[in-house]
Amino acid sequence: MIHIPFDNRFLQLGEEFFAKTQPAPVKQPVLIQFNHALARELGMVVEDASEAELAQLFSGNALPPGAAPVAMAYAGHQFGNFVPQLGDGRAIWLGEIRAANGAWFDIQMKGSGRTAWSRGGDGRAALGPVLREYLVSEAMQRLGVPTTRALAAVATGESVARERALPGGVITRVAASFVRVGTFEYFAARGDVAAVKKLADYVIARNYPELAGAEQPANQLYGALLAAVIARQARLIARWMQLGFIHGVMNTDNMSVAGETIDYGPCAFMDGYRHQRVFSSIDRHGRYAYNSQPGIGLWNLVRLAETLVPLLAESTDEAVKIAQTHLETYQGQYEAAWLAGMRAKLGLTAGVDPDARDKALIEALLDAMDANEADFTLTFYNLSCLGTGSPAPDHAIRNLFARPAAFDDWAAQWRERLQREPRSDAARQAGMQAVNPVYIPRNHQIEAAIRAAEDRGDFSVFHALRAVLQNPYAEQAGKERYRLPPEPEEVVSKTFCGT
Ligand code: AMP
Ligand code: MG
Repeated sequence: MIHIPFDNRFLQLGEEFFAKTQPAPVKQPVLIQFNHALARELGMVVEDASEAELAQLFSGNALPPGAAPVAMAYAGHQFGNFVPQLGDGRAIWLGEIRAANGAWFDIQMKGSGRTAWSRGGDGRAALGPVLREYLVSEAMQRLGVPTTRALAAVATGESVARERALPGGVITRVAASFVRVGTFEYFAARGDVAAVKKLADYVIARNYPELAGAEQPANQLYGALLAAVIARQARLIARWMQLGFIHGVMNTDNMSVAGETIDYGPCAFMDGYRHQRVFSSIDRHGRYAYNSQPGIGLWNLVRLAETLVPLLAESTDEAVKIAQTHLETYQGQYEAAWLAGMRAKLGLTAGVDPDARDKALIEALLDAMDANEADFTLTFYNLSCLGTGSPAPDHAIRNLFARPAAFDDWAAQWRERLQREPRSDAARQAGMQAVNPVYIPRNHQIEAAIRAAEDRGDFSVFHALRAVLQNPYAEQAGKERYRLPPEPEEVVSKTFCGT
């Protein structure tokens, strides 16, 4: 038996927020991975459940007691164009639970069949994107980035029709909330201010309870919500940038109001650094390129602010002013979070040199990396192993740069700056190694895991990669090859959506 302590509040918002849906059964579900540690954190009791039982449950063939399966309604701006009705077309929300630490979580299955919002789609997911989301979302968690989590991955034993027939899968994921900017847009576009207000109240109670406690007039409460979402999003995107992560499809329906990374589709971590790197095959104009992400974050938050205008003040002029005041803080918050994180990556203590000087030093490194396609992760990791004393920078890092002298020029400035650091060299290096990962989910390794699973039914490559990524900041003996960028023939230059 399995017990999940469901306590479903979302359904109380009313029928207009969701469509009741049952997962469609699958032929022959086989459990690929179940995240027991996460289940325990959530207060689930699954110890007695067999793998076969778990496969039945997390494929949708049998539902855990207390689940209330629905597809959520939402709209969204996709590549800048508003689509008034999207909704969960291949995901089914199972319910909410309150974890032992008091935090609320939503549980959702993806790939579990058609819903009221499937339009032409089959409601299914191919195994590849399921494995990809499992690996990347759990790696993000270990890297210290707010993210949805992966609870289970199941192979369905069925094939899904894509460009060719592919094996199917279902992923069960856990989020602080599956409410998106697009959920607010769905009701705002219909002029349903009462629903926007209900949704805002729900999000505050669920994800920002500290705001509800504060003594303030009601309209200031919604301003406070906007400010809080802005703050979390600014910090989140700064974390992505510090790890070379490209979300790939930052449509407003893929931006969580809880400040977590959500909807892993054609996402990727960069190997060779380029300011404007794009992987997603559908992002033809580079709208969601690496360096565009902070700006797109703001663009999406403006869309959220627009939906909240009727709640912010009696007069629209006044409300718009309030919204603008909050939105204007985004850039500064983002830059502060970015600078703090980048300083840590380079071993620079704040307050030693002026912000502008440290910023210029950081940007000079990124420019040199861009011009020389230096591997993002290895550049920072190798840097964290360098001492200040040795006159010649080591080969490993120089050779990451197409023109190694570009690194030498920059390293001279960096070493000069390090002379003013108050910390010992050893303390600085330890600090840097705590924030510069050795391992990231590299595209070619994810691809190898997917190929083995799809082509040969072999999940060992997936499991080995998953295990390494549980400890991204520590060198692991015998795992050297997971550090390495792809060989020319292994390079994955395009990533595809999970559809
Ligand atoms: P995404 O690319 O995951 O952000 O999805 C965009 C929209 O398309 C969402 O409303 C999804 O639910 C829907 N969608 C994507 N793939 C499918 C599918 N295979 N079947 C039904 N709906 C889908
Ligand atoms: Mg989506």
